[in-house]
Amino acid sequence: MKELVVISGKGGTGKTSITASFAVLSKNSVVADCDVDAADLFLVLNPKMITSGKFISGKKASIISEKCLSCGKCFYLCKFDAVSYDDLTGKYVICDTACEGCGVCAAFCPAGAISFTERECGEWFISKTSHGTMVHARLKIGAENSGKLVSLVRKIAREEGVKEKAEKIIVDGPPGIGCPVIASVTGSDAVFAVTEPSLSGKHDLERVSELVGHFNLPLFACVNKWDVNPEITLEIEKFCVKKGIFFCGKIPYDKNVTKAQIEGKSVVEYDESPAAREISKIWGNLCGKIL
Ligand code: SF4
Ligand code: SF4
Repeated sequence: MKELVVISGKGGTGKTSITASFAVLSKNSVVADCDVDAADLFLVLNPKMITSGKFISGKKASIISEKCLSCGKCFYLCKFDAVSYDDLTGKYVICDTACEGCGVCAAFCPAGAISFTERECGEWFISKTSHGTMVHARLKIGAENSGKLVSLVRKIAREEGVKEKAEKIIVDGPPGIGCPVIASVTGSDAVFAVTEPSLSGKHDLERVSELVGHFNLPLFACVNKWDVNPEITLEIEKFCVKKGIFFCGKIPYDKNVTKAQIEGKSVVEYDESPAAREISKIWGNLCGKIL
């Protein structure tokens, strides 16, 4: 079972549209949406949820007001300014989002008035789509640790893949090069970068190439909407040759991509459009090389 991670240096490059098309073109795969901060693959693949679970990460403190003596010790001890005094009620309160879960207040409260419980940061789901199993997640607003949730989604996807004897795991990775991206590519088999034909797109690909190089993984790339700027596209192709990145193809600007999105379909399902043809060709190139 091979795991391919689709990433892009930033959002809005068409990464999710392309991943959804790969999911449709692949005949025996599990899809994992690891863009947990802005998951939107479900809009195209229309999953029906089968199982879900809570994503627990770290702990949080809260004051049991009936037990609290209003001594203020927690207020003075908290290094994260998570405790405040409410003038109206005359009670101390802990701000859920500011609490870092260090546990100091709970350890020193003289009245045992602080509960220190697991923090629920989101949910994960296993769903069925008409193109196979999909694992996805939702991070709670303001919750951190999206890297951990990415790792959890990949782990569940692999378990599902093993159960189903899938040939591939296709991961829609987060944009950028931060912690969630590192969590997406670590231990995978190959990375596919979607970039756009602009100077910032080229720069993003350079950063992605450096990151993937650290993990010693094969990197594949394509340019989306290449005909918007053929000169930069050529520069990107040359960069790929220089860096040993396998350039899989270039997708033209195509209004059918937006139309497909509006109808909640992948590009390759929507029409025999130029973009759909090129995505199919790119998928063929990828399969020939790694899958
Ligand atoms: S340390 Fe305990 S008793 Fe004192 S204000 Fe905080 S919660 Fe209340
Ligand atoms: S657990 Fe730590 S961060 Fe949270 S309120 Fe208590 S002292 Fe502050």
